[in-house]
Amino acid sequence: MKPRIDISALVRPAVLAMKPYSSARDEFRGEARIWLDANENPYGAAASRYPDAQYVQLRQAIAAAKGCSPEQVLPGNGSDELIDLLMRTFCRPGIDEVVVQPPTYGMYAVQAAINDLAVREAPLTRRFLPDLRAIEAATTPFSRLIFFCSPNNPTGNRMPAETIRVVASAFSGLVVVDEAYIDFSGGSLLAQLADLPNLVVLQTFSKAWAKAGIRLGALFASPEIIRYIRKIKPPYNVSSLTGQAALRALQDPRRVARDIAEIRAERDGLAAWLEVQPLVREVFPSEANFLLVRFRDAAMIYRALLKRGIVLRDRSGLHGCKNCLRITIGTPDENAALKAALNDILYQNSAIRTLS
Ligand SMILES: *Cc1c(COP(=O)(O)O)cnc(C)c1O
Repeated sequence: MKPRIDISALVRPAVLAMKPYSSARDEFRGEARIWLDANENPYGAAASRYPDAQYVQLRQAIAAAKGCSPEQVLPGNGSDELIDLLMRTFCRPGIDEVVVQPPTYGMYAVQAAINDLAVREAPLTRRFLPDLRAIEAATTPFSRLIFFCSPNNPTGNRMPAETIRVVASAFSGLVVVDEAYIDFSGGSLLAQLADLPNLVVLQTFSKAWAKAGIRLGALFASPEIIRYIRKIKPPYNVSSLTGQAALRALQDPRRVARDIAEIRAERDGLAAWLEVQPLVREVFPSEANFLLVRFRDAAMIYRALLKRGIVLRDRSGLHGCKNCLRITIGTPDENAALKAALNDILYQNSAIRTLS
């Protein structure tokens, strides 16, 4: 049975009541020859005109690539903008709350703070899996959004679909599944959109699609949820140059598939190498394009690598991540340079220990 949920009851009253911005092109119906409606420079070439505010072509291309309908797609200026739009559409500042599951992506809490929303934490288990009891304990009548990140940043593992289903069926707000790394793992929850009316899936062009610089994310949800978010989104939130770059990338899925295969093979090779290093305590299983690694002394490794010109992400301050660094999988050359640097650090350290 489908859970029944009243989406309109979740929308901020101010958003329900407001009248959205409407451009001349939103109001216009029919065929036009001459566009004198938007104060654009008529002599310009590429990008002299405003983008199509409906993003028809872009939404169609993303929907076709992902196997859903264009009405279920909302493009954004990176998924970070879409996280913000979700909060501004569905959460009353100073009143409502969001639930996050640390250790996880930091932007959920940052955007919540910007929007004056309390953040309730339901920490993942020791193996970085969702903890239903903790989620239940963190959820209050003011909870509007529960964030899942799958595969999770920074741990790299996927959240079980069954757990997300259970939470979505029991929760009266929206369940947001951030799938920034899903192209590396498979197992997207997009297929569940039809069954779970309160499910929102986020994906991005920034990772596997190799387009972090164009700033493009996509939100997938029911047409009703998307209609409410569209009321408040900036009319031209994605530039036409970004749209064109995305359409080009989408035309070449084989290139992306090749990159993904190479990155996964490099990741598994690096993980196997790290597992047996004396400097390393634990390599967490990853389905993404990075590894979370627990070192014996992460601060020392971090500094020693920096001296050798290699930057990792220090995640040791996050819940359950003591002494953990996150390593993005690079090119084979970059990964080899990392291994050489770690070997060098090990050698220097043992030399120091022998001397003293
Ligand atoms: C990298 C990342 C994003 C991407 O955000 P964009 O704004 O689309 O670049 C979103 N969520 C997670 C968990 C990430 O790691």
